[in-house]
Amino acid sequence: MAKKVVIIGGGPGGYVAAIRAAQLGAEATVVEKDALGGTCLNWGCVPTKTLLHAARLYRLFQNTRKLGVYATGSFRFDKMVENKNAVVKTNVAGIESLFKRHNIKTLKGTGRLLDQSTVGVQTGDGNLIRETADAVVIATGSEPLVPSMIRLDKDRILTTNEVLDLDHRPGSIAIVGGSVSGCEFACLFGLLGSTVTLIEMLDCIVPTEDTEISRRLQGALKNLGVRVMTKAVIKTVEKEYPEGSTRLTTESGDQIKADYCLLAMGRKPDVEGVGLEHVGIEFSSKGITVNERMETNIRNVYAIGDVTGKLLLAHVASQQGIVAVENIMGIDSTMDYSAVPSFIYTDPEIGSVGIKEQEARAMGMDVLIGKAMFKTNAMAHALGNTTGFVKTLMDRETGRVLGVHILGPHATDLLSEAVTIVKTGMTVKEVKGVVHPHPTLSETIKEAVLASVDQAIYG
Ligand SMILES: Cc1cc2nc3c(=O)[nH]c(=O)nc-3n(C[C@H](O)[C@H](O)[C@H](O)COP(=O)(O)OP(=O)(O)OC[C@H]3O[C@@H](n4cnc5c(N)ncnc54)[C@H](O)[C@@H]3O)c2cc1C
Repeated sequence: MAKKVVIIGGGPGGYVAAIRAAQLGAEATVVEKDALGGTCLNWGCVPTKTLLHAARLYRLFQNTRKLGVYATGSFRFDKMVENKNAVVKTNVAGIESLFKRHNIKTLKGTGRLLDQSTVGVQTGDGNLIRETADAVVIATGSEPLVPSMIRLDKDRILTTNEVLDLDHRPGSIAIVGGSVSGCEFACLFGLLGSTVTLIEMLDCIVPTEDTEISRRLQGALKNLGVRVMTKAVIKTVEKEYPEGSTRLTTESGDQIKADYCLLAMGRKPDVEGVGLEHVGIEFSSKGITVNERMETNIRNVYAIGDVTGKLLLAHVASQQGIVAVENIMGIDSTMDYSAVPSFIYTDPEIGSVGIKEQEARAMGMDVLIGKAMFKTNAMAHALGNTTGFVKTLMDRETGRVLGVHILGPHATDLLSEAVTIVKTGMTVKEVKGVVHPHPTLSETIKEAVLASVDQAIYG
């Protein structure tokens, strides 16, 4: 008899887990209280990138004269949102059809563990369906983090969910949080001409990125007209009456007024109401505790994705889903976080994988840095976009490439090659033997790696 796997949550963790389970011969059921695709498809990765692509295209059209193209640029924000909604709908429909093809059952409702092998599903019409399972996977994701001193009104004071449903471009917007989402939204509205203030409490934006890249992004946002405030801790966020705008104050007494305030201050794992205490599953406000096989402390109960509080990224959630399900189906599988890519879809784009220069220095590692600038790349010139660079870190002793960090055109796409290099532990010698197509932006990766070899020989 086929194994029964019940998955609570249909985001990129849950739906990928369900498909893998079905591929391996399990009977898979997904319980979803809202929309299949979760945050990623409905309120995260896909809608933001769709809007950003449109905004970048608009900005590109303002600057095509040097390419000999005379385009008149204007935009309608409501149409951009309409297109974004259509893209989301198509992607959700794609998951539904994949589920159909794999005979995956979907139960619409809120799932809760009744015991370690039974999930109760509270449906919209008040019924409770009981689903028994050989294994349960918790994939409930995360929610926007809103500090208790801020009252969200969902009209002017918004999270990343509500801001995606605005039907007009804000005249002005204050964005609290200079991490990935905050920067992407600052870029989106900056490109479209809103007056944007980006407020970060640390001394730099995107602090998890390479220091040089973080500094360059800050400069690029400033060039777009975004006011970037660092070391600014928000004390209050209020709605102004009767104007209906927002007023923010910082601990040092600065005041920022804007039509809208977007809170992009991080996310918290969705651990409430899933029956974790009831079954005795170990968790904290940081997420459900799991091992590298994605097992919780309770036999046959697994957890994946944002709810585990590891790395809050869609591709991590999906990989964790595959690992969990393979273990359920008897295939020994573990999660490896050593070469997880991260990227920011700003203008210029950022992509990074592996160790960063500041981390290597802090650990006293002996690394050689290689760098290649897009201004020496033929394809970047053909595209009319020569901003940025590729930076690589090589271990002097082994010659292995330990990290690749890119700022520049199509950095997010270039990253896949870098991930392969770092994940497979390729040495400089091996990268040297790879022939890249010409003219392409990807040539910069090999060039940067070779630049670190030059240092090894001559430095
Ligand atoms: C603005 C924004 C942009 C982002 N951009 C990117 C990006 O470009 N790349 C990237 O990798 N990541 C991005 N992320 C992060 C990414 O969206 C998440 O890491 C990813 O969605 C996590 O997947 P998940 O399956 O763990 O959870 P989620 O996608 O949050 O899915 C969880 C699902 O579970 C459902 N659920 C919760 N509780 C229950 C319950 N009790 N019963 C039934 N259903 C339940 C929810 O309705 C939801 O559909 C972005 C996030 C945001 C907010």
